[in-house]
Amino acid sequence: MAILAVIGGVAAGMSAAAKARRTNADLEIRVYTDEAHISYGACGLPYYISGEIEKETRLMARSVEQFATLGIKVFTRYRVEEIRPRDQIIQVRNLNTGEMTEVAYDQLVIATGASVLVPPVEGRDLTGVFKLRNVVDGVAIRRYIEETKPKAGVIVGGGYIGLEMAETMHRYGIKVTIVEMAPQIVPNMDKDMAQILENYLISQGIEVRTAEKVLSLRGGRESIDQAGFSGEEVFPPDRLQQVITERGIIPADLVLLSVGVVPNSQLAEKAGIELGVRRAIRINSRMETNLPRIYAAGDCANTTHLVTGEEVYIPMGTTANKQGRTAGENAAGGKAEFKGVVGTGIAKVLDLEIARTGLNERECQDRDLPYEVRIIKAWTKAGYYPGAGQIHVKVLAQKSGGRLLGAQIVGQAGSGKRIDVFAAALTLGATIEQLKDLDLAYAPPFAPVYDPILVAINQF
Ligand code: FAD
Repeated sequence: MAILAVIGGVAAGMSAAAKARRTNADLEIRVYTDEAHISYGACGLPYYISGEIEKETRLMARSVEQFATLGIKVFTRYRVEEIRPRDQIIQVRNLNTGEMTEVAYDQLVIATGASVLVPPVEGRDLTGVFKLRNVVDGVAIRRYIEETKPKAGVIVGGGYIGLEMAETMHRYGIKVTIVEMAPQIVPNMDKDMAQILENYLISQGIEVRTAEKVLSLRGGRESIDQAGFSGEEVFPPDRLQQVITERGIIPADLVLLSVGVVPNSQLAEKAGIELGVRRAIRINSRMETNLPRIYAAGDCANTTHLVTGEEVYIPMGTTANKQGRTAGENAAGGKAEFKGVVGTGIAKVLDLEIARTGLNERECQDRDLPYEVRIIKAWTKAGYYPGAGQIHVKVLAQKSGGRLLGAQIVGQAGSGKRIDVFAAALTLGATIEQLKDLDLAYAPPFAPVYDPILVAINQF
């Protein structure tokens, strides 16, 4: 019986295994993961930490036993330490016993994901300093919050995860400060749109410090004395008490380091697999690497940007699932393609929703792409309907009603998912002229007669 081996047991790996099984009932499928948990939705972790999701087990789509009933063998706490492509063998270490075994494969899917980029600041190992990537991280943060009841939290990095965690900490009554090195938060949106979010966060009591670098994290009395906070409770030296930035000292008993991720591509690279942008694994639309019988998918791999045609590294759960499914089908003998993404993303912070797709102004400028911009402010529902909130829509397009290039939305409930209209239009390469009379759904509880999207498009 032919063997499909999968490395990694989260979004991409388990999608690959499940799709391979549906494609080919005769394959032996073995999944190896170095974690104890599999098939979990990391995207739900901020809501587990906040307590909105009571138990971490709710984040797990399927168990090892459920996969076993599908004929998929999942080996948890097994790390793949080497791929030997010429022999079609992987070397696997049992992390409980330390024992090493060789496993032969006919097809291999690499779905090793990404790791949190931990900035090399002094004090990053202090108690009270966290990263957030997996269930173990999430459980540790929630336990720390419940047990120590922190008063002041600093989030280093103002991207989606940092913002979602700002909401989580705020819900616990923790005083939150976001420190972002870039001149704005949500660096993948334009500054004018990010500013709306920033103003909102400030109005909610969340401090936002942009263009500011964290230099070190400190605990204990010495730092207290230096900072002149000697009247406050003093923690032991190994427990976080202050965040030192270029511009000053922020008292903090909880820090989340959230400055981005790096692809786990070292294992692949050592096996002779080609890497691309940002050192992620280079794959084609069938998820094939440069080596025969070896596929890659998810946060360890690149994809194609459908607006520019460029190879990009945009690690997202949505893409990991689709790439995993594609890799699994092809590894099982099918013929599937995943052509790429348009860079769509969405997040919610308290009562504000932010979303983006396609290219922003900086991305157009970097490519010397001439573009025009329109920004509008409108209502999410008919203005007279209870609960109507504000929505800001920004659209970028080629000059003179040409091709749509990108869009960004910031607004209250019901705003964010409107980005999907733009994502669909970008995927199909639509022009502004083609979009002007879209038959978008209307009734007062959902939208004004002219949906804000149409209002924005009709400004061109
Ligand atoms: P991973 O989830 O990183 O899984 C890879 C697995 O492989 C890990 O278990 C890893 O330990 C294991 N592994 C690595 N190397 C080896 C080895 N050598 N041997 C064995 N096992 C190995 N995306 C969205 O689209 N929308 C969201 O709202 C969203 N929110 C998020 C919120 C948070 C807090 C986080 C952390 C992520 C969020 N994401 C979101 C991103 C999304 O979770 C990831 O894109 C997705 O998990 C990627 O799946 P993956 O299977 O490629 O990689």
